[in-house]
Amino acid sequence: MPEGDTIFRSARALNLALQGKQIVSFETAYAQLASVNDQTPLAGRTVERVESRGKWLLIHFSGDLILVTHMLMSGSWHIYRPGERWRRSRTHMRAVIATSDFVAVAFDVPVASFHTARTLERNTAIPKLGPDLLNDKFSDEEALQRLQARGPDEIGNALLNQQVLAGIGNVFKSEICFTCGVHPFAKVSTLPPARLQQLLEAARRLMAANVTEAAGDRIVTYTGPRRTTGADNPMARLWVYGRRGKPCRRCGTVILMRKQGVGARSTYWCPECQPMPESQGMPLAEIDGLSTPIRRRKVGCG
Ligand SMILES: [Zn+2]
Repeated sequence: MPEGDTIFRSARALNLALQGKQIVSFETAYAQLASVNDQTPLAGRTVERVESRGKWLLIHFSGDLILVTHMLMSGSWHIYRPGERWRRSRTHMRAVIATSDFVAVAFDVPVASFHTARTLERNTAIPKLGPDLLNDKFSDEEALQRLQARGPDEIGNALLNQQVLAGIGNVFKSEICFTCGVHPFAKVSTLPPARLQQLLEAARRLMAANVTEAAGDRIVTYTGPRRTTGADNPMARLWVYGRRGKPCRRCGTVILMRKQGVGARSTYWCPECQPMPESQGMPLAEIDGLSTPIRRRKVGCG
């Protein structure tokens, strides 16, 4: 699934290419979108802005029309110059927004609908999102309060909950916890505010680092490789995610994995660098692959 930062990058690139530009043509494979376009054509409207809300991407057009897409597992937006060859087959095309400078193509977006400001506000399928970590108006205080309101939840689940904070995906969830030495199965209520604050800072730092990844001067949005360790070697990109059974990059301890939460999402952690808080034990039998007792050690957030 594309992570929040991927959607944010897509929105930013689309905004750079399309904002303030007049649409010369619109094409879609979806009958519902085509019908709206027939009644109230997009051609002639101006793109006011493109924004991401967590994993939703919203394109606002003049005249109170908003195209809302959700990427789910497979969707992506590409931006091309007019006449440039597409990197994906036309059979995957779901919508094309063309201006005189750029052509934005949505491939395989499984969810796409038109809204007005009013229907968007009323739509319950698009959740009211928590503060977007990558939004300029992100408030530390509000984010902290939202996390603390999830006291009984495991921190891994709370970080992934888009109604608490928008933008953190399953990969970054594990990486953020590792960076701060926090056990992903620790209950939020067992973590002091300073610790939660560290997690929020780490989340924003990691996601911002990925957002500013050089895109080159061709504006192309795609699911690029995510990096958290700062290493150039693609194999050394992530601290713990996807590294079950491999040695921790900091201490050499074997990385563990366990399914977590409603969606049974894979959660990775180092039992040495990320000890469970004293106030919350974890049945050793539940920890897959753990043969030695967890030793407790303080690890700074860095
Ligand atoms: Zn470790």
